[in-house]
Amino acid sequence: MPYLLTGAPPGELFLVRNVGAFVPPYDGSHGHHGTAAAIEFAVLNLQVSRIVVCGHSHCGAIKALYGEVSPEARNLQRWLDLGREAVLPVQGGPEALRRTEQRAVVLQLERLMDYPMVRSRVEAGQLSLHGWHYVIEDGEVHVFDVQTGRFVAASQAPHSGTGPYPPYVEHDGQVLVD
Ligand SMILES: [Zn+2]
Repeated sequence: MPYLLTGAPPGELFLVRNVGAFVPPYDGSHGHHGTAAAIEFAVLNLQVSRIVVCGHSHCGAIKALYGEVSPEARNLQRWLDLGREAVLPVQGGPEALRRTEQRAVVLQLERLMDYPMVRSRVEAGQLSLHGWHYVIEDGEVHVFDVQTGRFVAASQAPHSGTGPYPPYVEHDGQVLVD
């Protein structure tokens, strides 16, 4: 599916999948993090130019934030903490879940910026961050527009490049957001 969504040639994407599409904190305080290692590897070794955090509709991980998690799932409990800030103080109805899925994506983008190798490259214009929400039933991606703080259907978005950083200005005064 990521290849269909991006049109990237085979082998071009470095994919990391985890529960909720969450980004762990940079500090490494919670033990071994495959995802944190993957971020460092992608940026430092593979030197990727874009990082896409892609959430999706009907996400079971986001739904789990509104319900009970088995006490046996000690690792999952801790992992879900990475999305708790996105939870709304309401019942988890369809609209709340959709908004939470989107808020969780933005939260992970913010956490990505805590990785020094990410922040420095974003600020230097060498790396861009993208927040996507894939609406499975419509087959469409909604992209996070950092300037409006909203998710916009990709087909209607003025640009696909977004990031949790202010647009930087080129020497000729042209504002680059992509
Ligand atoms: Zn999910």
